[in-house]
Amino acid sequence: MELADHAEELASDLGVDKQEVITDLENLVEYSVPIDEAKQSLRRKYGDGSSGGGGGGPTSKEVGAITTADSSVTVTGVVLTAGKRSIRYQGDDHEITEGTLADETGVIDYTAWEEFGLEPGDTITAGNAGVREWDGEPELNLGERTSLSIVDEAVDLPSEYADLVGGEASLAELSTGDRAVTVEVDVLECERRTIDGRDGETEILSGVFGDETGRLPFTTWDPKAAIEAGGPVRLENVYVQEFRGVPEVNVSVYSTATALDRDIAVGENTTSMTVREAVGTGGIYDVEVVGNVISVRDGSGLIQRCPICNRVIQKGQCRVHGEVDGVDDLRVKAILDDGTAALTVVLDDELTEQVYGGTLADALEQAREAMDQSVVADDIREEIVGREYRVRGHLSVDEYGANLDAESFTESDDDPAERAATLLADRDAAVTEVDG
Ligand SMILES: [Zn+2]
Repeated sequence: MELADHAEELASDLGVDKQEVITDLENLVEYSVPIDEAKQSLRRKYGDGSSGGGGGGPTSKEVGAITTADSSVTVTGVVLTAGKRSIRYQGDDHEITEGTLADETGVIDYTAWEEFGLEPGDTITAGNAGVREWDGEPELNLGERTSLSIVDEAVDLPSEYADLVGGEASLAELSTGDRAVTVEVDVLECERRTIDGRDGETEILSGVFGDETGRLPFTTWDPKAAIEAGGPVRLENVYVQEFRGVPEVNVSVYSTATALDRDIAVGENTTSMTVREAVGTGGIYDVEVVGNVISVRDGSGLIQRCPICNRVIQKGQCRVHGEVDGVDDLRVKAILDDGTAALTVVLDDELTEQVYGGTLADALEQAREAMDQSVVADDIREEIVGREYRVRGHLSVDEYGANLDAESFTESDDDPAERAATLLADRDAAVTEVDG
C-alpha cells in the first residue's frame, strides 16, 4: 500500500484533513518509523475515539516528566541548541531545525518542521508539541499544530544545562546523534573527493579534526574554504553520525566555518581509559589504554596477504579469490588485558618491525633458515608477552570483538602503584560528578 493510501484510510477514520495526515506520515517514515507504528502514533495524535484522547488540550509538563506515553504536551524551556538541516522526502528538500530544550528538570531533543526562528538561549513555550519515541526516548515534534511563543521570564537552569547553551563541545564529548554542535578544532588531514551523491557527483572534503581531547574523522558536504585551508577553525552547527563504528563530524551547508586565531594543542588531554570503559564506548577514534600483553594470537609475525583484496591468506588461499600469489607482510595481533577487560591490539608492519627488532627482509631470512615462518611470531611473543604497554589508536567494536588499531605502542614506564592511585582518583572524580 502506498503512503497516500494509508493516509486516505487514516484521514477518513479520524475525520481529519488528508494532506495533514500525509505530511505527518512522511515525517515519521522519514525517520524510519515503521508504517504501522506511524499510523498508531497518528491515531493517538489526532485522538482516535477508541483511545479516548479526543477531549481536552495537551497537558503542561516539565521536561523531565515527558514520557513516550505522551502524545502531545505543552512545555516551557530554554533552547540549548538549534541547528538547521535539510532532509528529503518524495523528491523535495525540506528544511528542519533540530536541537535540545531544557528546564530545571531535564533536557529533551526536538525537531521543528516549521521555521520558528529558534535561537540558543531563547526561553520558549511550545503549546501542543507532539511527542514521539526515538531510540527509546521521548522527543518533541514542533509542527504546524504547535503554537510557539518566546517567554520573557527566564528559566533558571542548573549549571550543567546552562553550560550546554550554544552546543559548545570538545571532540571527546561528541557522540553519534549529536546535533547543532559547536567545536574548535585543528584540521589535521583534509582531502577533496568526488563522490556519487543523491544529486549525482558531489565534491566533498574528508579528513581528520583534532582538539585538546583527541581526534575525529570528518566529512563536509559543502566544501568550506576555511577547512580546506587547514589550521585552527571554529565550526558552528555541525552534527555527528556514525561511520565505520566511530563517530564522525559532519559539516553541512548550514554549518559555519571561521578561521581561529589561536593554537590548539592536539591530543594534549587525550582520553585515557580503562579497557572496559573503552570497549563500553562501542568504538572510539582516539583512545589510550595501558595493559599487559597476555598473548600473541595466530596470524601474527610473518604473514601473506592476497594481492587483490589485502586479506591475510592461509597456504596460498584467499577466502575470496582462491589460489593467489601472496604478498609478504608483518603484523601482530596481541591480547592486551588491564584487569578490567581485554581487547586485541593490532600492530601494522612498522610497529611490528619495532617490536620484532628487524625488517621484513630479516624476517624472511629468519624464516628461510628455520624453514618455518612461525619463528618470527615466536620471537615477537617472547619479546612482548608479560610486559605492560601504553597503546594509542582507533578502537572498533563489532561482533568479532574489540580491535585497537595501534598508532603507537610503547612499553609503559609507569609505576604500577602510582597508576592505580590515578585510576582510583579518576573514579572518585567521576562519582563526584554523577552525585553532582
Ligand atoms: Zn583476496
